[in-house]
Amino acid sequence: MDLIDLHTHTNASDGADSPSETVRKASQAGLKAIAVTDHDTVLGLTEASAEGRELGLEVIRGCELSARSQYGEVHILGLWLPEDTTNLDSVLEELREHRNNRNQIIVSKLNALGLEVKYDELLEIAQGESVGRPHLASLLVNKGYVPDVKAAFDRYLGSKGKAYEPKKTLEPEQAVSLLSGLGATVGLAHPKMIRCPDSWLEELIEKLKEYGLDAIEAYHSEHSSADERACVELADKYDLALTGGSDYHGKTKPDIALGRGYGGLRVPYALLEKLKARRAAQNLPV
Ligand code: AMP
Ligand code: ZN
Ligand code: FE
Ligand code: FE
Repeated sequence: MDLIDLHTHTNASDGADSPSETVRKASQAGLKAIAVTDHDTVLGLTEASAEGRELGLEVIRGCELSARSQYGEVHILGLWLPEDTTNLDSVLEELREHRNNRNQIIVSKLNALGLEVKYDELLEIAQGESVGRPHLASLLVNKGYVPDVKAAFDRYLGSKGKAYEPKKTLEPEQAVSLLSGLGATVGLAHPKMIRCPDSWLEELIEKLKEYGLDAIEAYHSEHSSADERACVELADKYDLALTGGSDYHGKTKPDIALGRGYGGLRVPYALLEKLKARRAAQNLPV
């Protein structure tokens, strides 16, 4: 069976591998297609697509936008972004500016707690333009303040950590409209990672569908088989397509393999064919 991975991060955001390395590794892993879906940036897409053409691996231009809700972050995937992302760029630029301000606040909070970390050191670790807490976590690990990334989040960076600072994000409706307006196929990422009542998730899906939501990510490293089934049922009920991917981050999340997640993930090429057929029916390019 031909396998794909429609959710991957590169060092354009908080993944560890460059876009071309990511595509190379996908090719070596025998995958037939991947979508590059960095957080709040499209910067890695040109490089990834070029490497894909070189190696004969299908690369889908994507991104993952963070949005807020009463139950924490809701992530929205856009697949098949156009070459011209002018409308998206200004919004992403604003989000990244907020990230940068927030990172400086977190560094100050860490300093006030007696941890000697500098903003410049953070920028050195983060090679891409979308800088966030995983980079801060690496910095704290490198400096020996915490044994590992998990401890960095538990003690300092997570929502219960001592240096926590929330992130300004879009409303889910805004994220969906923005991507849908560009002609992307818009999916709700890892819905079962949102810690919310089932009824609330269903209402969210129903509402976002009005704004152009067209898919939900049923297959994901953090989804159990029960989660997958629940997502498939929701997709059936609301006439949404299915997507799936590992959420690969390279060595930032070392246990998650391209295309395979923690080992059990399998996203068949047939799922991509269905998505393409759906886009064709919507007169959208693939
Ligand atoms: P940011 O966008 O800067 O708020 O960072 C969010 C990212 O941090 C998520 O995509 C996760 O990859 C990572 N993250 C959040 N919470 C944790 C945690 N408890 N342990 C490890 N990584 C986390
Ligand atoms: Zn990430
Ligand atoms: Fe996500
Ligand atoms: Fe992701």
